[in-house]
Formats: sequence, C-alpha cells, structure tokens
Amino acid sequence: MSTKRNNPETIAIHGGDYKSDPATNAVAVPIYRTTSYQFNNTEHAANLFALKEFGNIYTRIMNPTNDVLEKRVAALEGGLSCVTVSSGQTASSFAILNVAQAGDNIVSSTDLYGGTVSLFTHTLSKLGIEIRYADPSDPKNFEKMVDDKTRAFYGETLPNPYLRVFPIKEVSDIGRKYNIPLIMDNTASPVICKPIEHGAAIVIHSLTKYIGGHGTAVAGSIVDSGNFDWTADPKRQPLFNEPDASYGGVIWGKAVPELTGANVPFAVRARVCLLRDLGSALAPDNAFAIIQGLETVALRMKQHCENAEKVVNFLKKHKEVTKVIYSTEHNKPIADRAKKYLKGGYGPMVGIELKGGIEAGKTFIESLKMFYHVANIGDVRSLAIHPASTTHSQLNEKELAATGVTQSYVRLCIGIEHVDDIIEDLNQALNKSSKGKLRAVS
Ligand code: PLP
Repeated sequence: MSTKRNNPETIAIHGGDYKSDPATNAVAVPIYRTTSYQFNNTEHAANLFALKEFGNIYTRIMNPTNDVLEKRVAALEGGLSCVTVSSGQTASSFAILNVAQAGDNIVSSTDLYGGTVSLFTHTLSKLGIEIRYADPSDPKNFEKMVDDKTRAFYGETLPNPYLRVFPIKEVSDIGRKYNIPLIMDNTASPVICKPIEHGAAIVIHSLTKYIGGHGTAVAGSIVDSGNFDWTADPKRQPLFNEPDASYGGVIWGKAVPELTGANVPFAVRARVCLLRDLGSALAPDNAFAIIQGLETVALRMKQHCENAEKVVNFLKKHKEVTKVIYSTEHNKPIADRAKKYLKGGYGPMVGIELKGGIEAGKTFIESLKMFYHVANIGDVRSLAIHPASTTHSQLNEKELAATGVTQSYVRLCIGIEHVDDIIEDLNQALNKSSKGKLRAVS
C-alpha cells in the first residue's frame, strides 16, 4: 500500500510496502531468522556489494523483517528512509558517528536522557568528538557555539526529566543557515510530534519505549528525512563529500542520490558503513516484537496523554506535592512550545517533587502498588522512578543540574490503565509519603 494515507493510526498498521509476505502470503510480518541470503549468481553478488543493485546481503546490514519496521517508522515520521539498530543508545551513537570524526564537534541540548549525556561526555569525547552543550531555553545558545568544525545540532523533543519541549524549528532554522543538520531524539513523543515537519534532518528513536510499548524488546531507529542537502557546503560535511576509502572512494553525498534517486545518504552510510563496521544490528525477533507494538502506538499515545493530563490536575491539588513538572506547566515561552510542537496530547510523562523531599520520594515509590518501579519509560504500564539515585546516578552534580534532576524529583510515566486506578494508586502512596519525611527527621 502507498503511504498516501497519511494518518498515523493507518501508517502504523499499513505503512511501507508490506501487504503480505511475498513468499507465503502471510499477513503478519514473518520473522526472517537468517543470517545470509543466496546470491543469484556472481554478478548479482558483485552488484549488491557495489551498491549497483539493492538487495539482501547479510543480516548485520539488512533483514526483510527489519525492512518492514524501517519503512513503517520512516513513514510514521514523514521521512524517506530508516535504519534500525540494536538499541536507542546505538541510534544516538550512530547518528553522531555518521557525521562527526575526531576533531569535530556537535552542539547538543543540555536537556537529555542520562545515558545520552554519558555517551556524549565520556565515550564520544574519548573518540575525539567534542559535545558542546547549549541551554535550549534560548535557541540562540546553539548559534553561539558554532564553529567550522560543528557537524550537527542535537536535541530531544520531550526530554525527561525537564519535560521542556525543544524549540525544533528555531534551532533547525539556525542550523540551516550554516548547513548544519538537526538530529532529534523523538523517543518520548512519537505520533504527537513529527520533528521533520519542523525542519529536523534526522530523527532517532529508542523503539524500546513508546513505539514498542510493551517492554518486551530493546531496539533503535534512525530516520533520514531526505530534506537536508549534504553537498551544499562540502567543508561542513566532509564525510559526505570526500571519497570514502572504505568503500572504493565513493562520495556518499553524490553517489546515494544518483544510485537510489533519493536524497538519503545519511541512512545509506549509517547502514553500509556503521552497521558493517560496528555491528549493533537489530535482531529480527526484536524487530517483530516492535512491529506488534507499533501497530497500536497512535491509540496508546492518545491514552497515555489523556491519562497524564488528568493525573497532572490531580497532583496539582495534592497537599504532599510541592511541584508538578509537565510540558504545559512551565513559564512562557517554554510552555508555549508544548502547544506549538505537540499535537493530540502533551506527553505521557509527569515529574513531581514532594513536600518531604528525597525521603518522602523514596517512601512514595515504595508505597506504590500498581505502578512498577523500573528504569524504562514508554510501557503500557504506569512506571515510577527516582532518577537522581538510579538513571541519572552516574552524572555529577553539575551534569544533574543541567539535565533538570533535583534530589527530590520523582518521574512518573503514566500508563494506559484506567485513570481512576492510576490516581487511586498515586493518592494512597502520596498519603504515605509524609512518613518518609518523619523517618528522615527522627
Ligand atoms: N533516548 C531516550 C530519550 C531514552 O529515554 C533512552 C532510554 O531510556 C534512550 C535514548 C536509549 O534507548 P535504549 O534503552 O533503547 O538504548
């Protein structure tokens, strides 16, 4: 089916070319559990390796099950091509490694998932790629950090724990003046935001989260919008404009549009260079699990967001809660960004700070009966965690402050259970939380 039926509910089920399995007519996407693919003859094999013809070579680089998922995620995000990888962490690593090499820099938002901060600050810096952090409350902060070696801007649409929506268009517009692409991590806001419509060049996901939705598989994706001109300023993007010695001297920015008719050199290079060299391929079994989740992502996001708004209204009135953090609960102009960029809901995540501080926060989490106490986000189940002692515990005080985590912050991912049951569980745990405060004092 063509993806002209552009509604996310329909794309999630029918997006991409897949109607049924060409070999068996199976309607459900089969799991192609194979490492290799029989070449028709030596010429066919040589053509595939030379990218003169596109087809399956080896599952580290491509797989028919993954291909269906890739086409659907690309369509959902309004992009032209997608590469799936083994995790969200791989997606963010590849997104950077695909544009930057030692000596280059990336300007990134300070509002990031903790794992991305450690990847950027510790691992990528050891490879010689500098990450410069810009506070996204003022988009001009990105421009101030640009120099000749800046290869990309990076942000998260709905970053937790701050839950300040990223100024996508504002930062993308600055980037395009300098031929710098904007890479957006849209993990927490599939369906409710399409960063490509606002100028993002690349969109990544931890598919582990809302797109998968069931907490059964770890996976990541990188979508190439097709809307960025990688050859406009060859000095700005050397990896797309200089001959690649690892691939017979190909110049990716020119060769990919010529070979494929599509402006997707970012996706092709990520697949044939980074998956080739670094591995981190998505197992087809996990691609299958994510496809099951993807089919209902639009429905789930609607329910997550509806429930979250009701929870926010309840929490704002609760005597034990001193602060509610939500995309629409910030001062202007940050709160306005939620209305500008999020459509059909303001997000599934809510932060709270409690009257009794950190001890009350711990008692609150331990008193929850239905909520799960887990590191994940984006599950159908409601989830709670104390980031400062868990997901963000490897960050120092300065890094913690930059990501918006206070010692008493508790993160809630509101699930799709009945909202009355969610509120009842929160209420009973909040009412017990003050005991944590008393315990701390005594
Ligand atoms: N990006 C965001 C916004 C995340 O929340 C996470 C994980 O929590 C990741 C990336 C990493 O994803 P994964 O756990 O699939 O490696």
